Amino acid sequence: MSADSKITVELACDAQAQLGEGPVWDARGNRLYWVDILSHCVHVHLQGEPASDGPIELTPYVSSIVPRRSGGFALTLQDGFYGYDPASAELTRLAEVEASIPGNRFNDGKCDPAGRYLAGTMSMNDQHGRGTLYSLDAGHAVQPLVSGVSISNGLAWSADGATMYYIDTPTQQVVAFDYDTASCAVANRRVAAEIPEDQGSPDGMTIDAEGMLWIAHWGGWQVSRWNPATGEKLLSVPVPAAQVTSCAFGGEQLDRLYITTARVGLGEAELASQPHAGGLFCAAVGVRGLPTNLYGG
Ligand code: CA
Repeated sequence: MSADSKITVELACDAQAQLGEGPVWDARGNRLYWVDILSHCVHVHLQGEPASDGPIELTPYVSSIVPRRSGGFALTLQDGFYGYDPASAELTRLAEVEASIPGNRFNDGKCDPAGRYLAGTMSMNDQHGRGTLYSLDAGHAVQPLVSGVSISNGLAWSADGATMYYIDTPTQQVVAFDYDTASCAVANRRVAAEIPEDQGSPDGMTIDAEGMLWIAHWGGWQVSRWNPATGEKLLSVPVPAAQVTSCAFGGEQLDRLYITTARVGLGEAELASQPHAGGLFCAAVGVRGLPTNLYGG
Protein backbone atom coordinates (compact mmCIF):
# COMPACT_ATOMS: atom_id res chain seq x y z
CA MET A 1 0.00 0.00 0.00
CA SER A 2 1.58 3.27 -1.07
CA ALA A 3 0.70 6.89 -0.50
CA ASP A 4 -0.67 7.21 -4.03
CA SER A 5 -3.07 4.26 -3.77
CA LYS A 6 -6.19 4.87 -5.81
CA ILE A 7 -8.89 4.07 -3.30
CA THR A 8 -12.41 5.04 -4.33
CA VAL A 9 -14.73 6.39 -1.67
CA GLU A 10 -18.41 5.72 -2.38
CA LEU A 11 -21.46 7.38 -0.92
CA ALA A 12 -23.23 4.70 1.17
CA CYS A 13 -26.06 6.85 2.48
CA ASP A 14 -26.90 10.43 1.52
CA ALA A 15 -28.18 11.18 5.02
CA GLN A 16 -27.43 14.93 4.96
CA ALA A 17 -26.48 14.65 8.64
CA GLN A 18 -25.64 17.80 10.57
CA LEU A 19 -22.94 16.01 12.56
CA GLY A 20 -22.53 12.40 11.53
CA GLU A 21 -20.34 10.57 14.05
CA GLY A 22 -19.59 7.37 15.90
CA PRO A 23 -19.83 4.63 13.25
CA VAL A 24 -19.81 1.15 14.82
CA TRP A 25 -20.19 -2.24 13.17
CA ASP A 26 -22.63 -4.61 14.87
CA ALA A 27 -21.77 -8.15 13.73
CA ARG A 28 -24.94 -9.54 15.39
CA GLY A 29 -27.08 -8.12 12.63
CA ASN A 30 -24.44 -7.13 10.07
CA ARG A 31 -25.41 -3.52 10.41
CA LEU A 32 -23.53 -0.28 10.80
CA TYR A 33 -24.88 2.12 13.41
CA TRP A 34 -23.88 5.77 13.50
CA VAL A 35 -25.21 8.94 15.09
CA ASP A 36 -26.10 12.47 14.08
CA ILE A 37 -25.34 14.27 17.33
CA LEU A 38 -26.93 17.62 16.45
CA SER A 39 -30.06 15.99 15.00
CA HIS A 40 -30.34 13.76 18.10
CA CYS A 41 -30.65 10.50 16.18
CA VAL A 42 -29.09 7.13 15.34
CA HIS A 43 -28.87 5.88 11.75
CA VAL A 44 -28.81 2.19 10.83
CA HIS A 45 -27.11 1.10 7.62
CA LEU A 46 -27.48 -2.31 6.01
CA GLN A 47 -24.80 -2.90 3.39
CA GLY A 48 -26.15 -2.79 -0.14
CA GLU A 49 -29.68 -1.89 0.89
CA PRO A 50 -31.44 1.41 1.26
CA ALA A 51 -32.38 2.39 4.79
CA SER A 52 -35.57 0.53 5.63
CA ASP A 53 -36.55 2.68 8.57
CA GLY A 54 -35.82 6.29 9.30
CA PRO A 55 -33.32 7.42 11.91
CA ILE A 56 -34.09 6.64 15.55
CA GLU A 57 -34.56 9.77 17.66
CA LEU A 58 -32.53 9.68 20.88
CA THR A 59 -32.39 12.97 22.73
CA PRO A 60 -30.59 14.95 24.02
CA TYR A 61 -27.48 14.68 21.84
CA VAL A 62 -26.92 10.99 21.35
CA SER A 63 -23.16 10.98 20.68
CA SER A 64 -22.06 7.33 20.58
CA ILE A 65 -23.63 3.88 20.54
CA VAL A 66 -22.13 0.45 21.23
CA PRO A 67 -23.49 -3.11 21.05
CA ARG A 68 -24.17 -4.56 24.50
CA ARG A 69 -23.20 -8.12 25.39
CA SER A 70 -26.49 -8.70 27.23
CA GLY A 71 -28.44 -7.61 24.14
CA GLY A 72 -29.40 -4.27 22.69
CA PHE A 73 -27.09 -1.32 22.98
CA ALA A 74 -25.53 1.15 25.33
CA LEU A 75 -25.20 4.79 24.32
CA THR A 76 -24.25 8.23 25.54
CA LEU A 77 -26.69 11.11 25.74
CA GLN A 78 -25.72 14.59 26.92
CA ASP A 79 -25.84 13.71 30.60
CA GLY A 80 -24.82 10.11 30.94
CA PHE A 81 -24.57 6.50 29.87
CA TYR A 82 -27.79 4.70 28.93
CA GLY A 83 -28.97 1.27 27.91
CA TYR A 84 -31.16 1.06 24.84
CA ASP A 85 -33.50 -1.75 23.76
CA PRO A 86 -34.32 -1.28 20.07
CA ALA A 87 -37.31 -3.65 20.27
CA SER A 88 -39.14 -1.55 22.87
CA ALA A 89 -37.31 1.75 22.22
CA GLU A 90 -36.78 1.84 25.99
CA LEU A 91 -33.92 3.91 27.42
CA THR A 92 -32.51 3.06 30.86
CA ARG A 93 -30.01 5.32 32.53
CA LEU A 94 -26.93 3.40 33.61
CA ALA A 95 -24.99 6.33 35.09
CA GLU A 96 -25.38 10.08 35.26
CA VAL A 97 -22.31 12.10 34.29
CA GLU A 98 -21.55 15.82 34.68
CA ALA A 99 -25.11 16.69 35.67
CA SER A 100 -23.61 19.79 37.33
CA ILE A 101 -22.04 21.01 34.06
CA PRO A 102 -25.04 21.81 31.81
CA GLY A 103 -22.79 23.44 29.17
CA ASN A 104 -21.09 20.13 28.48
CA ARG A 105 -22.25 17.13 26.50
CA PHE A 106 -20.84 13.72 25.80
CA ASN A 107 -18.93 13.28 22.54
CA ASP A 108 -17.21 10.20 21.06
CA GLY A 109 -17.28 6.86 22.88
CA LYS A 110 -16.23 3.26 22.34
CA CYS A 111 -15.66 0.04 24.29
CA ASP A 112 -12.30 -1.22 25.44
CA PRO A 113 -11.23 -4.84 24.87
CA ALA A 114 -12.37 -5.74 28.41
CA GLY A 115 -15.92 -4.50 27.79
CA ARG A 116 -15.82 -1.12 29.52
CA TYR A 117 -17.51 1.80 27.77
CA LEU A 118 -15.19 4.81 27.48
CA ALA A 119 -16.58 8.16 26.39
CA GLY A 120 -15.49 11.75 26.78
CA THR A 121 -17.19 15.09 27.16
CA MET A 122 -16.75 18.55 25.68
CA SER A 123 -18.01 22.08 26.17
CA MET A 124 -20.79 23.19 23.83
CA ASN A 125 -19.52 26.79 24.19
CA ASP A 126 -15.97 26.17 22.93
CA GLN A 127 -14.52 26.40 26.43
CA HIS A 128 -11.15 24.71 26.38
CA GLY A 129 -10.15 22.01 28.83
CA ARG A 130 -13.62 21.48 30.29
CA GLY A 131 -14.04 17.89 29.16
CA THR A 132 -13.11 14.56 30.71
CA LEU A 133 -12.72 11.03 29.39
CA TYR A 134 -14.73 8.59 31.52
CA SER A 135 -14.96 4.84 31.84
CA LEU A 136 -18.17 2.95 32.60
CA ASP A 137 -17.50 -0.53 33.92
CA ALA A 138 -19.77 -3.56 33.71
CA GLY A 139 -21.22 -2.69 37.12
CA HIS A 140 -22.15 0.81 35.86
CA ALA A 141 -19.51 2.53 38.00
CA VAL A 142 -17.99 5.62 36.37
CA GLN A 143 -14.44 6.82 36.78
CA PRO A 144 -12.58 9.72 35.14
CA LEU A 145 -9.47 8.69 33.20
CA VAL A 146 -8.23 11.85 31.46
CA SER A 147 -9.22 15.39 32.49
CA GLY A 148 -8.57 18.83 31.00
CA VAL A 149 -9.80 17.70 27.60
CA SER A 150 -11.29 20.15 25.09
CA ILE A 151 -12.97 17.91 22.46
CA SER A 152 -12.77 14.24 23.38
CA ASN A 153 -12.42 12.03 20.31
CA GLY A 154 -10.66 9.22 18.57
CA LEU A 155 -10.51 6.15 20.76
CA ALA A 156 -8.76 2.97 19.64
CA TRP A 157 -6.91 0.09 21.27
CA SER A 158 -4.09 -2.10 20.04
CA ALA A 159 -5.12 -5.72 19.42
CA ASP A 160 -3.58 -6.82 22.75
CA GLY A 161 -5.37 -4.02 24.62
CA ALA A 162 -2.09 -2.77 26.11
CA THR A 163 -2.11 0.56 24.25
CA MET A 164 -4.94 3.08 24.04
CA TYR A 165 -4.91 5.79 21.37
CA TYR A 166 -6.77 9.01 22.05
CA ILE A 167 -7.44 12.35 20.39
CA ASP A 168 -8.22 15.74 21.92
CA THR A 169 -9.02 17.44 18.62
CA PRO A 170 -7.60 20.98 19.12
CA THR A 171 -4.19 19.58 20.12
CA GLN A 172 -3.72 18.25 16.54
CA GLN A 173 -2.22 15.15 18.19
CA VAL A 174 -2.96 11.48 18.54
CA VAL A 175 -1.60 10.33 21.87
CA ALA A 176 -0.88 6.82 23.09
CA PHE A 177 -1.21 5.57 26.67
CA ASP A 178 -0.15 2.32 28.26
CA TYR A 179 -3.51 0.77 29.10
CA ASP A 180 -4.22 -1.73 31.85
CA THR A 181 -7.21 -3.78 30.70
CA ALA A 182 -7.64 -5.15 34.25
CA SER A 183 -8.13 -1.72 35.83
CA CYS A 184 -8.40 0.72 32.86
CA ALA A 185 -5.56 2.75 34.37
CA VAL A 186 -3.75 4.89 31.79
CA ALA A 187 -0.06 5.81 32.00
CA ASN A 188 2.96 6.95 30.01
CA ARG A 189 1.21 9.45 27.74
CA ARG A 190 3.19 10.10 24.53
CA VAL A 191 2.51 11.60 21.10
CA ALA A 192 1.88 8.93 18.45
CA ALA A 193 1.07 11.23 15.53
CA GLU A 194 0.78 14.93 14.80
CA ILE A 195 -1.63 16.20 12.14
CA PRO A 196 -0.38 19.27 10.19
CA GLU A 197 -2.92 22.10 10.45
CA ASP A 198 -3.23 22.39 6.67
CA GLN A 199 -4.72 18.87 6.71
CA GLY A 200 -7.51 19.75 9.14
CA SER A 201 -7.85 18.48 12.71
CA PRO A 202 -7.91 14.87 13.95
CA ASP A 203 -11.40 13.70 14.91
CA GLY A 204 -12.60 10.08 15.08
CA MET A 205 -10.23 7.14 14.66
CA THR A 206 -10.04 3.39 14.29
CA ILE A 207 -7.29 0.78 14.11
CA ASP A 208 -6.70 -1.95 11.53
CA ALA A 209 -5.52 -5.54 11.87
CA GLU A 210 -1.95 -4.44 11.12
CA GLY A 211 -1.98 -2.04 14.07
CA MET A 212 -2.14 1.10 11.92
CA LEU A 213 -4.46 4.00 12.80
CA TRP A 214 -7.14 5.43 10.48
CA ILE A 215 -7.91 9.04 11.33
CA ALA A 216 -10.76 11.29 10.17
CA HIS A 217 -9.66 14.85 9.32
CA TRP A 218 -12.19 17.51 10.33
CA GLY A 219 -11.75 20.29 7.77
CA GLY A 220 -9.25 18.15 5.85
CA TRP A 221 -11.27 16.31 3.14
CA GLN A 222 -9.70 12.94 3.97
CA VAL A 223 -9.13 9.93 6.13
CA SER A 224 -5.53 8.94 6.60
CA ARG A 225 -3.55 5.92 7.75
CA TRP A 226 -0.70 6.32 10.24
CA ASN A 227 1.91 4.14 11.85
CA PRO A 228 1.67 5.00 15.56
CA ALA A 229 5.09 3.46 16.28
CA THR A 230 6.90 5.92 13.99
CA GLY A 231 4.41 8.83 13.69
CA GLU A 232 4.56 8.42 9.92
CA LYS A 233 1.60 9.12 7.66
CA LEU A 234 1.23 6.15 5.30
CA LEU A 235 -1.75 7.02 3.16
CA SER A 236 -4.38 9.64 2.47
CA VAL A 237 -7.84 8.75 1.14
CA PRO A 238 -9.74 11.76 -0.24
CA VAL A 239 -13.35 12.17 0.92
CA PRO A 240 -15.78 14.43 -1.02
CA ALA A 241 -16.72 16.35 2.14
CA ALA A 242 -14.51 18.69 4.15
CA GLN A 243 -15.73 17.85 7.64
CA VAL A 244 -14.76 14.19 8.00
CA THR A 245 -15.70 13.11 11.51
CA SER A 246 -14.97 9.45 12.10
CA CYS A 247 -14.38 6.03 10.56
CA ALA A 248 -14.86 2.37 11.43
CA PHE A 249 -14.34 -0.95 9.73
CA GLY A 250 -17.44 -2.95 8.86
CA GLY A 251 -18.85 -5.56 6.55
CA GLU A 252 -18.92 -9.28 7.33
CA GLN A 253 -15.18 -9.47 6.59
CA LEU A 254 -14.45 -6.12 8.31
CA ASP A 255 -12.88 -5.06 5.03
CA ARG A 256 -14.85 -1.88 4.35
CA LEU A 257 -14.03 1.44 5.96
CA TYR A 258 -17.17 3.43 6.78
CA ILE A 259 -16.69 7.18 7.06
CA THR A 260 -19.02 9.75 8.63
CA THR A 261 -19.15 13.46 7.73
CA ALA A 262 -20.92 16.69 8.73
CA ARG A 263 -22.86 19.57 7.14
CA VAL A 264 -23.00 21.82 10.18
CA GLY A 265 -21.64 25.32 9.67
CA LEU A 266 -21.30 25.07 5.90
CA GLY A 267 -22.69 27.88 3.78
CA GLU A 268 -24.54 27.62 0.48
CA ALA A 269 -21.38 27.99 -1.62
CA GLU A 270 -19.53 25.35 0.38
CA LEU A 271 -22.43 22.93 0.14
CA ALA A 272 -22.52 23.43 -3.63
CA SER A 273 -19.00 21.96 -3.82
CA GLN A 274 -19.76 19.15 -1.35
CA PRO A 275 -23.44 18.32 -1.87
CA HIS A 276 -23.18 15.00 0.01
CA ALA A 277 -21.63 16.51 3.14
CA GLY A 278 -23.28 14.76 6.06
CA GLY A 279 -23.35 11.49 4.17
CA LEU A 280 -22.03 8.10 5.16
CA PHE A 281 -19.22 7.03 2.86
CA CYS A 282 -17.53 3.68 2.34
CA ALA A 283 -14.27 2.43 0.82
CA ALA A 284 -12.46 -0.87 0.36
CA VAL A 285 -9.04 0.10 1.69
CA GLY A 286 -7.20 -3.22 1.30
CA VAL A 287 -6.84 -4.01 4.99
CA ARG A 288 -9.24 -5.35 7.63
CA GLY A 289 -10.30 -3.89 10.92
CA LEU A 290 -10.54 -5.47 14.37
CA PRO A 291 -13.86 -6.84 15.68
CA THR A 292 -16.02 -4.31 17.54
CA ASN A 293 -15.66 -4.41 21.33
CA LEU A 294 -19.02 -4.89 23.07
CA TYR A 295 -20.12 -3.29 26.32
CA GLY A 296 -20.01 -5.95 29.02
CA GLY A 297 -22.52 -4.44 31.48
CA1 CA B 1 -15.95 13.27 16.84
